[in-house]
Amino acid sequence: VTGSGSSDVNPSPRLAEVADRVFAYLQPDGGWCVNNAGIIAPPGGTVVIDTAATEARARALRASIGSVSTTKAQVLVNTHHHGDHTFGNFVFSGEAVIIAHELARTEMAEKGLSLTHLWPQTRWGELELVLPSVVFDDRLVLHAGDRRVELIHVGPAHTTNDVVAWLPEERVLFAGDVVLAGCTPFVLMGSLAGSLRALERLRALDPEVVVPGHGPVCGPEIFDANHAYLTWLDGIAKSGSAGGVGPLEAARSCDLGAFADLLDPERVVANLHRAYHELAHGPDWAYVPSGPAFADMVAYNGGVPLTCRA
Ligand SMILES: [Zn+2]
Repeated sequence: VTGSGSSDVNPSPRLAEVADRVFAYLQPDGGWCVNNAGIIAPPGGTVVIDTAATEARARALRASIGSVSTTKAQVLVNTHHHGDHTFGNFVFSGEAVIIAHELARTEMAEKGLSLTHLWPQTRWGELELVLPSVVFDDRLVLHAGDRRVELIHVGPAHTTNDVVAWLPEERVLFAGDVVLAGCTPFVLMGSLAGSLRALERLRALDPEVVVPGHGPVCGPEIFDANHAYLTWLDGIAKSGSAGGVGPLEAARSCDLGAFADLLDPERVVANLHRAYHELAHGPDWAYVPSGPAFADMVAYNGGVPLTCRA
C-alpha cells in the first residue's frame, strides 16, 4: 500500500496492489461521491477503471498512475454514469479511449453536470463533460499487455448501465457500485430485483478480491452483506406497501439494526421509493423520479442536506 501523496485531497487516497500490477485506488471514507477507482498496469498497456468526482480528485488519480506505470492511461472504463465515476473523464481526454455501457453514455449526455447542483458547496473545480467514445451492450474484452479484462454489463442494478471489470486470471473483480462496502447500497436509479440478480452473477464469477465502488477492498463475503441489506429492504417495502405506509414513513418506522452502522443510512428512503415502484409496476419498471426520493432522504435526516465529502 502506498500513499498517492496529493495534498489537494483529504483524506489522501491510497493505492492498494490487489494482484500483480493490479491496483485499487481507494478514497476514504467512501460516502456520497467519494468513490474508488482501479489501475491495471502491466507492461504494454494501462487501463483505468473509473475516475473521480472533482477536478482535484481526478488529477490526483491521473498523477498516481505515474507511480505504478511508465505509460499513460490508454483505456478508461466508466463502470456507470454517476458523476463521481465519470466527471474526471476530461483529465484523460486526448490520451485514453473512454469505454462504457451504451446507456451510461446516454445518461451522461442527458444529465450533464447536474449532480454538482445537489452539493453546491463541494469544490468541483473546472469540470468539463467528456462522454465515452466507445460503448457496448453486453460484454467487451480488453487485453492490457498480458492481462485479460472482461467488461460485463450486469445492470440494471445500481443503475441501468452497470459494468463490472473482471480479471479471470487474477480473480479480481472491480464491481463498481453494484457492490458497496461500509456504506449503504443504493438502487434508486437501477433495480432492487436486478441488484439481487447481479449479486448472484458476480458471486458465480468466484472472485478472490472484490474492489467495491465505495469502501475498502473485500472478498466475496461482501456479496452476502449486500444481499442481506437488499432482502431486508425488500421485506420492509412489502410490509410498508401492504400497510398503506409511504416510503418515508416506512423508513422512519423501521429499525435499521446492524445496517445503521453503514455510511449514508438515509439511502433507505430512496431505496424504498424504488422498491415500492417495483412492487406496483413489476421488477423491470424503468424509471423512478429522483427528486422526491432525494427530498425524502433530506426529510429523513431531519432536514439536514446530504453530506458530500468530495
Ligand atoms: Zn454510483
